[in-house]
Amino acid sequence: MFETLSDRLTSVFSSLKGKGRLSEEDIATTAREIRLALLEADVALPVVREFIAHIKERARGEEVSKALNPAQQVIKIVNEELIAVLGGETREIRFAKRPPTVIMLAGLQGSGKTTLAGKLAKWLVAERNTPLLVAADLQRPNAVTQLQVVGERAGTQVFAPQPGNGVGDPVEVARESIEHARRNNHNVVIIDTAGRLGVDDEMMQQAADIRDAVTPDEILFVVDAMIGQDAVNTAQAFLDGVGYDGVVLTKLDGDARGGAALSIRHITGRPIMFASTGEKLEDFDVFHPDRMASRILDMGDMLSLIEQAQRTFDEAEVERMAGSLTSEDDFTLEDFLEQMQMVRKLGPIGNLLGMMPGMGQMRDQISNVDDKDLDRITALIRSMTPEERRNPKIINGSRRLRIANGSGTQVSDVNGLVTRFFEAQKMLRKMKDGSFPGMPGMPGA
Ligand code: GDP
Repeated sequence: MFETLSDRLTSVFSSLKGKGRLSEEDIATTAREIRLALLEADVALPVVREFIAHIKERARGEEVSKALNPAQQVIKIVNEELIAVLGGETREIRFAKRPPTVIMLAGLQGSGKTTLAGKLAKWLVAERNTPLLVAADLQRPNAVTQLQVVGERAGTQVFAPQPGNGVGDPVEVARESIEHARRNNHNVVIIDTAGRLGVDDEMMQQAADIRDAVTPDEILFVVDAMIGQDAVNTAQAFLDGVGYDGVVLTKLDGDARGGAALSIRHITGRPIMFASTGEKLEDFDVFHPDRMASRILDMGDMLSLIEQAQRTFDEAEVERMAGSLTSEDDFTLEDFLEQMQMVRKLGPIGNLLGMMPGMGQMRDQISNVDDKDLDRITALIRSMTPEERRNPKIINGSRRLRIANGSGTQVSDVNGLVTRFFEAQKMLRKMKDGSFPGMPGMPGA
């Protein structure tokens, strides 16, 4: 999901790399490109307009932080705006003070309501609840059986009209289910209602009647994200016809664009509470706007890392570090040691590397780097003479032995460090000439 948008945004950011500061023209170009990316992702026009207005305003006004380069500043702003448009805070289910908590599902046929009922039930069971699934979709011939199947897979009971009693009255079934839940200690009731292929008055009325009969604690509007802009129209129709407290996006696995996810909160004012990403009952999770934004930006948790750096280092330190990276003089082991010490202030090295994007493929190597490694490197560098630190090329065999003895390590450790250092130096040279984006050299990895 969101692949197209991710790709587009990533290329917008990379065109800012290497810039010293954001000019008015850069802001205009960037805003235009982000606008196109959002439109291409099928985000509703009013949402795009407001999003872009915020980006421009903030990019102009943003307190220019020395710790962030222009590309990082724009990423930070876009990330925060994405989180806002996706709803800001994670919205949890509100449980009733007196059980059972009644959750009613509404949405078009095929939106994934019945599947969702099973997913929600399974998730609630895992959270130590005792849900009851209620078949109030009596329109579709197979709906009751389908709910019984998912109920069984989720390990929950299903309340359905007795066979042989004709079609049954869904309002009556819903009402009785609450009593049944009370008597049988179900603390949550999930009511699956009927949907049509399109919005129609009769369906809305039936959903409204069920709502009035059971006064749900949460009405969840279930919508197929793959229908794009139509999701927004349907969402509006259900808001007017039945009303709801939250949205569940289904089939996000099939939606490469993400327009529905990015528009629905803004248009309806209702939070996205859950997301469904496949046909299996496990393919389901609470919707976290911040994690979704960071996925869209394909950045791991880089922003936490950047913010941590901003909080931890004062400007002088940042400048000194930036200085050592951009000065004409070559990067030395002295700089290497200083950077390593700064990085260490941020926290355990494993966590830091884990927050960096693209580190997924390097998981094995990361798990091999630990803080002891860094202690050893520190000891090694401290056992070197200033001349050796400035010009590691002179570290020959006898010097290596002396350094190893002095730092209580092995010659192989000295060899490893020198090799790593030369690699970091090479990477930094590339960064300086602009051919390598991103972060300062990370020792160890
Ligand atoms: P209902 O008519 O609203 O009850 O919808 P169903 O629960 O019967 O779902 C309709 C179809 O969508 C079924 O084939 C489901 O397996 C499928 N489906 C539901 N949720 C998802 C999802 O998140 N991803 C994918 N790929 N398919 C889903």
